Amino acid sequence: MLEQRILIVEDESAIREMLHIPFHKAGFILEEAADISEARVKIFNQMPSLILLDWMLPNISGIEFAHELKRNAQTKEIPIIMLTAKGEETDKVRGLEVGADDYVTKPFSPRELVARIKAVLRRTVTHSHTEKLEIRDLSLDLSEHRVTISDTEVAMGPTEFRLLQFFMSHPEKVYSREQVLNHVWGGNVYIEERTVDVHIRRLRKALATYGYDHLIQTVRGVGYRLSAKE
Ligand code: CA
Repeated sequence: MLEQRILIVEDESAIREMLHIPFHKAGFILEEAADISEARVKIFNQMPSLILLDWMLPNISGIEFAHELKRNAQTKEIPIIMLTAKGEETDKVRGLEVGADDYVTKPFSPRELVARIKAVLRRTVTHSHTEKLEIRDLSLDLSEHRVTISDTEVAMGPTEFRLLQFFMSHPEKVYSREQVLNHVWGGNVYIEERTVDVHIRRLRKALATYGYDHLIQTVRGVGYRLSAKE
């Protein structure tokens, strides 16, 4: 059976920490993010099986992020359990309206949470994320975290993988370096724009072995795009 990777997005470290032991016992791999930008990076790195999403987070609320995840074709299948201290009925309704799969009110017992996670995973297992992005013979498998060209695996680093995932999700569209940074590095992070150039070069190099480096095109004065057109 596949390992269940559970991402908790919660700014209170005590809550994240109390889950270490019970999650380990339940056979879950716990991934942690203290805010949304960290969560975006974790999700890009590897699709979680389920997301525990705190309602009250700095900058962007959990509810807004849930909405964002459910609108994105790549992440909409990931089940979400909202965590909240409020426990008000209206919040519950709002959470379920944006597509959260369940709702747990703080304080909760880790045992109760594990049981709820298992129940949600059982319900959603049939449409688990087997999603693949494909352009010609180039294929990016999100659940296996693997890139292949004509069934041969292409080795690349995690940042190059995220870059390629981003471009394959939005083919033919041009993005500025700043936009690429925001999407792939999660924004709110201070990284120089030329970092994008460095990783684009690495990505092209990985693809060049198979003659696919031309897919990643430089648009002078604007930025980059992935294009399958000649
Ligand atoms: Ca919080």
